[in-house]
Amino acid sequence: MCAVQKDEKPALILSILKNKCPRCRRGDMFKESNPYKLKTFMRMNERCLVCGQPLDMEPGFYYGTNMVSYALAVLFCVLTFVLWWITIGFSLKDSRFFWWMGINAFLLVALQPPLMRLSRAVWIVFFVPYSPYWKEGDIIEPERVNKEHAGNW
Ligand SMILES: [Zn+2]
Repeated sequence: MCAVQKDEKPALILSILKNKCPRCRRGDMFKESNPYKLKTFMRMNERCLVCGQPLDMEPGFYYGTNMVSYALAVLFCVLTFVLWWITIGFSLKDSRFFWWMGINAFLLVALQPPLMRLSRAVWIVFFVPYSPYWKEGDIIEPERVNKEHAGNW
C-alpha cells in the first residue's frame, strides 16, 4: 500500500517575504515580480493564480497596511541602529550619529517598494489563514466588494 503523500506546508515567514498568497502560500500576490518597476509594482492579482483566493477582501482592505508599514519601518531603524552601534559605534565627539541617520533615511526610501509589498503580505495574513485544503476550494470570499473603487486606496 502506498501512503497518500501530503503536500508540504510552505513556511509562513518565507511565504510572506516572497509575497505569496496566504491561503496556499504558493501563488504570487503581485502581478509584477520586480518591486522596482515603479509603475506596476503594486498591481495585484485579483485572485491567487494557484488556489483562487480573492486578494482584495473589501473596499479599502489594504488601508490598514499603514500600521504594518510603520511597524516595519521602526523595526528597520532599530535594526540599522544596532548594527551601526556594533560595527561603527556612536560618539558625541563626531558626526557618526548623523551619518547613521542619513544612511538610514536613504535606505528607508530606497527600500520603500519592497516594504510596501511586504506590508500587504503581512496584512492579509491576519485575515486569510493558511488552509491545508487549499486544493479543494474552501476559499474565503470577500463579504462586500466595490469594483468601482478597487485600486482607489
Ligand atoms: Zn493561493
